[in-house]
Amino acid sequence: MLNPAAAARRAIPSLDRLLQLGAVADLAERYGRPLVTEAARAELAALRAALGRRPPEPHAGFDEAHFVQACAARLARETRSSLRPVFNLTGTVLHTNLGRALMPQEAAQAVARAMTRPVNLEFELDEGDRGERDRHVERWLTRLTGAKAALVVNNNAAAVYLALNTLALKKEVPVSRGELIEIGGAFRIPDIMSRAGVKLVEVGTTNRTHLRDYSGAISPRTAALMKVHTSNYAVQGFTAAVPEDKLAALAHRHRLPLITDLGSGMLVNLEDYGLPHEPTPREVLAAGADIVTFSGDKLLGGPQAGLIVGRPDLVERIRKNPMKRALRVDKMTLAALEAVLRLYADPARLKAALPTLRHLTRPAAEIEAQARRLLPAFESALRGKASAETISVKSQIGSGSLPVDLVTSWGIAVWGSGKRRSAAAGGISAAFRALPVPVIGRVKDGTFIMDLRCLEHEDEFVEQLTHLELK
Ligand SMILES: *Cc1c(COP(=O)(O)O)cnc(C)c1O
Repeated sequence: MLNPAAAARRAIPSLDRLLQLGAVADLAERYGRPLVTEAARAELAALRAALGRRPPEPHAGFDEAHFVQACAARLARETRSSLRPVFNLTGTVLHTNLGRALMPQEAAQAVARAMTRPVNLEFELDEGDRGERDRHVERWLTRLTGAKAALVVNNNAAAVYLALNTLALKKEVPVSRGELIEIGGAFRIPDIMSRAGVKLVEVGTTNRTHLRDYSGAISPRTAALMKVHTSNYAVQGFTAAVPEDKLAALAHRHRLPLITDLGSGMLVNLEDYGLPHEPTPREVLAAGADIVTFSGDKLLGGPQAGLIVGRPDLVERIRKNPMKRALRVDKMTLAALEAVLRLYADPARLKAALPTLRHLTRPAAEIEAQARRLLPAFESALRGKASAETISVKSQIGSGSLPVDLVTSWGIAVWGSGKRRSAAAGGISAAFRALPVPVIGRVKDGTFIMDLRCLEHEDEFVEQLTHLELK
């Protein structure tokens, strides 16, 4: 007589037989034959491996329905998009790891059109001949910054690289030691400069740099002066930096251009929206900068892009750099950017129309009311396994914008009981990440905190809380 494991193994039908089952054929209809064959093979292997580990009940046969269900679950899991929507309740409005700026519907529609239909990307409709792709956004960028010329590349790191590589190849560029920053994801000003073929000349000290430090560093080998906005940290206390206008005057006395890397670079005055000031490209250009670079997907609230605005002769030289071709943006980026820039033409509507600005300006009282309204839904989802409370928190802008300026916000704090509170917080955080639309918060002092500043789609959010499974 066979032992139960051998009997159970023998009861498993062949792959070919299983692929002929009606329910499996239905799966093949939906997912295609190759994926279904792979899934069935993997499920069979898993079944056999399980039999090796623990012997089955005597006379346990092959459960066909269970097998089909397991295949279906495997296929659903494996064909799900890797890039999925999440709820950003981290308290960081522009979260680089969560895709930075959210874009308005207008931008999404423009992108869909550009993706699915031929467009005049590099084609002049008036003359009927070849055009320049950046022209679609140049008129908006010049209007919004006061610059006479503009161009667009893949991101601000590329913009800095291309500007330096064009204007200072094999030459020297003095930069203040207080501005030799690292942005998350290994963007370091000294590294970008050396890769751009530019020799960095460090001037001043970490906390204080004076005009004489720059003038002492200028030599016949100098090609430009550069200023970098220390966007993700603040030098506080006994500090000194040289303002743009003084530095521009010095550069121009030596017939050198001033390049300013603004990092974020908002196109409107944030103070008009009750937020702390962030320098605008218009201000920096008016102070005398010749080239200004900034990101498309930070405060501007558009797609990932690097914007270069400034003096037309310099912008033209940058445009002609062969590396521009390697760093150029595609039609989807241009479509989204054009739609977002157009919104800036109507500042009165901007706050409602641009998600980044809408989230940053949400009144704390409104977020507090939302937290109170949602608390019962959290409490019932936790089923007594953890406690929840509304909590006042500080949101930050993120992506290196306004590092020290935190905005008051409200959220929900969840914590487990017992002595191992910090381990429990990790488990709570994981349970929220496992929801159908993962909820990303942060853990602080043994508490899982969700800042509701960026919570939209509230109904969907509340509905899926019922799926929460706390261990
Ligand atoms: C964010 C930032 C960059 C890099 O911009 P990306 O668009 O992320 O490439 C460069 N410089 C400064 C000062 C920044 O803040």
